[in-house]
Amino acid sequence: MEYQIKAYAKINLGLDVIGKLPDGYHEVKTVMQTVGIYDELTLEKAESGITVTTDSDKLPAGEDNLVYKAAKLMKEKYHIQEGVKIHLKKNIPIAAGMAGGSTDAAAAMKGMSRLFGREADLQEFMKMGVTIGADVPYCIIGGTALAEGIGEKLTPLELAPECYVLVAKPDISVSTKYVYEHLDAVGVKVHPDIDGMVEAINAGSLQGILDRMGNVLEAVTIPKYPVIDDIKRRMRELGAVNSLMSGSGPTVFGIFLDEDHAQAAMGRLREEGLAKQLFVTTFC
Ligand code: ATP
Repeated sequence: MEYQIKAYAKINLGLDVIGKLPDGYHEVKTVMQTVGIYDELTLEKAESGITVTTDSDKLPAGEDNLVYKAAKLMKEKYHIQEGVKIHLKKNIPIAAGMAGGSTDAAAAMKGMSRLFGREADLQEFMKMGVTIGADVPYCIIGGTALAEGIGEKLTPLELAPECYVLVAKPDISVSTKYVYEHLDAVGVKVHPDIDGMVEAINAGSLQGILDRMGNVLEAVTIPKYPVIDDIKRRMRELGAVNSLMSGSGPTVFGIFLDEDHAQAAMGRLREEGLAKQLFVTTFC
């Protein structure tokens, strides 16, 4: 028997860093939003062990894949004796600020629970997931949520209003570790109004969200990779009502009010060579 599950990517509508914890981690306050870009995992029972394969040549197969780590955690925690084979079809841009690895891990945990009939409540999953990565608990619940702490303290919000999202990943890789390490040198000069954004979301006001979009990590990535700013600007010239870098970058997203403009802007960015990985999608 095979079990298939989709692993959805996220964007950050707003991202603030409000302090540093004693263990060196940064304390964030961010609004996360699931978008319709997803990886596909296929799980199948096997006699023993864990085998992870992927169609991507840019990802580790086997033990270093976050899918493997999630499957191992599930096997140990729920005393699953049988083995599992998991294939990962990768669509989400890698090292992009879209929580690709974390969402795969979250999906692997859910898939394992279904395949082996181990019921678990979401709180339990979230506690286990955070040991793999700070964004894993969010990926388990998905939707629109405020994330605090290192990203693991979650408050689900109303679904954000309908719009179209153009996602563009320039052909550079940015490690999350690098960005946070360098943030201390740059500092946070202007804090985005995350509380105001939460109110706007719960009031269903797209304009209120657009007015408060901000990401303090841009202060590290944009000086190093000016293409991020070029894409943000170009998206606005092409009709986006606002644009922002997601997470630690380098992915940029633009919000559009209609699909035709989003599609046309995607075509132009592709022609102009600003980004190779491009998607028009929606919140979900
Ligand atoms: P975040 O938004 O949480 O910062 P990200 O989009 O920046 O995440 P990922 O795509 O999750 O970054 O990848 C980070 C690193 O994790 C990659 O360099 C990759 O080698 C490793 N990795 C391990 N397993 C996976 C996986 N299943 N998918 C993506 N990356 C993985």
